[in-house]
Amino acid sequence: MSRDDCIFCQIVDGDIPSRKVFEDDIAMAFLDANPLAPGHTLVIPKAHHETLEDTPEDVAAHVFGALHRLNTAVEHAVDADGTNVAFNNGEAAGQEVPHLHGHIIPRFDGDGGNP
Ligand code: 5GP
Ligand code: ZN
Repeated sequence: MSRDDCIFCQIVDGDIPSRKVFEDDIAMAFLDANPLAPGHTLVIPKAHHETLEDTPEDVAAHVFGALHRLNTAVEHAVDADGTNVAFNNGEAAGQEVPHLHGHIIPRFDGDGGNP
């Protein structure tokens, strides 16, 4: 898939609206359109890389740094007790949008465990 028909590239370009929670030169984060919990956030590189293997290490490290800070911010924002942090990497692993993204899914005591 080219960046022209990638949903997340269109979000980066502002052609599809999103509820953006973070942006710098390399990474961006926005709320998931179909949240598994309040505050469910996606963290992406702005450049189009499909999977972790396709992503240069410095970009992946930058995205993970943003994810690390956002994890704390999201947890505090929704008063979560924990988070599931996950990358579905590749179609076989359940990746539906072929543009690298990390999920931050807030969890709450007694909410039933894994998504
Ligand atoms: P995956 O299964 O690829 O790891 O997760 C893709 C995620 O992207 C899903 O949680 C889905 O709800 C979210 N998503 C798909 N399309 C859009 C969209 O247009 N906007 C936003 N904000 N999230 C989206
Ligand atoms: Zn893309």
